[in-house]
Amino acid sequence: MRFPLALTLKIARHIIKHKAKRTPKFAMVLQLEPLHTCNLTCTGCGRIREYSTSLKDMVPLERCLAAAEECDAPMVSICGGEPLIYPKIEELVAGLREQGRIIYICTNAMFMRKKMRDYMASRYDADMEARLKELVSQELVTEKDAEVIRKADAAAREKVVIAPSRWMYWNVHVDGLEYTHDLIVEREGVFKECVAAMKMAKILGYQVATNTTVYKETDVQELEDMFKYLSWLGVDGHTISPGYDYDAAKKDMVKRLGRDPQAFFLTRDVTRQKFKKIEDWGKMFTIFGTPVYQEFHAGKRELTCTAWAIPTFNVRGWKAPCYLMTDGHYNGYQEMLTKVDWEKYGVVDGVARDPRCENCMVHCGYDPSGALGTNYQSGDNWKNFKYNFASKPKPHPAGQQVLAFNGQSIGKGHLAEAKAAVSKEFASTPKSVFQRNGHHDHTGSDAGADTAQRDALIAKINAPRS
Ligand code: SF4
Ligand code: SF4
Repeated sequence: MRFPLALTLKIARHIIKHKAKRTPKFAMVLQLEPLHTCNLTCTGCGRIREYSTSLKDMVPLERCLAAAEECDAPMVSICGGEPLIYPKIEELVAGLREQGRIIYICTNAMFMRKKMRDYMASRYDADMEARLKELVSQELVTEKDAEVIRKADAAAREKVVIAPSRWMYWNVHVDGLEYTHDLIVEREGVFKECVAAMKMAKILGYQVATNTTVYKETDVQELEDMFKYLSWLGVDGHTISPGYDYDAAKKDMVKRLGRDPQAFFLTRDVTRQKFKKIEDWGKMFTIFGTPVYQEFHAGKRELTCTAWAIPTFNVRGWKAPCYLMTDGHYNGYQEMLTKVDWEKYGVVDGVARDPRCENCMVHCGYDPSGALGTNYQSGDNWKNFKYNFASKPKPHPAGQQVLAFNGQSIGKGHLAEAKAAVSKEFASTPKSVFQRNGHHDHTGSDAGADTAQRDALIAKINAPRS
């Protein structure tokens, strides 16, 4: 099966229950943002910018769990910010599992290996020793860290940890192969860490997914190579979404990078060009989402936005109308459902009801539409059923030939190379969107002024735990 049976059945039961009760609007996936602090400052991320004045705020654990209960979505995607910075992340995952939810931890992977070492220390025994040896031999755990795991004290053994489960996925942010990914996340070495974390996770028996945002500069062939490589690594599934110029990201592009957002983000037409092969990819790789949503991306049909099915809860409450756009925050999910005029949003028959929705084709608006039968066409249910129950694509054999680490060609670090290339090539033409505008250098250093506040916050958040 393409997706684990238990998870597919859980989601199917949820939809059938609400269809039988004729519930007009209900949640499928909760986007839970316990905090907005992040250790990276990716190009195109509106989150850390929109909530820049509340980076120090966190949603208390109990409130996070209550929000999940309230909307009762079968799936919870814990995002942020970087959720692994949240001091109670282990307790949050445990609490959501107690509620019976499917969990995705959306992470940039920089703290994943640390969290998995905590798990190993808490369960250290002869079986774990065998895995530890393998991890050390593959240089995924250092000898020094291995000793810490072996000598785990009572506190380490009693610690709540994030253990492998068929109900949980690490969902790692990967926007391309090494060169591209590190440029987009604006720090060298991140891709390498992502790959190391994913390899370690697979050895330990975790489920791993990736999520990729496609931008105007994204090379489609590189995306296909990336999927080949990731499938060969044993990654269990992929989400792919178009990056469009939603408010906060657009403002950042203009203000911080001095760039025209149109040079970076996708319009609907360009999205459809970039996603032309999405249905082929759906056959070759385990792409999450329905085939109906894939047809929408490929330009074969239209869908109506169902943003209410993937609500976002964060430090300010229930964010409306969607993950990307903010017209208000509400205290309760039901309150948001009744007070928001949903007819004001989305694109219907090619006409944007709100100009900000014009280029949007993202998951949080349209993926549930495919599953819920909005704009139903004859045969859709069978198509979705067949896709879910078909056998899982095998790891792609060509993955091992992909030159994933493609950014070290001058031996000084590829961002230095990128900087040199950008300065030369764009001396008399517009700057690359990845070229910073004097706020930072391009070496991956965090010395820039706008990261100092973030780093201080991370230190503060981590302090009580040591
Ligand atoms: S990892 Fe990047 S995209 Fe994700 S929250 Fe941090 S800055 Fe934003
Ligand atoms: S189309 Fe839907 S998901 Fe997209 S920006 Fe508009 S309201 Fe949000």
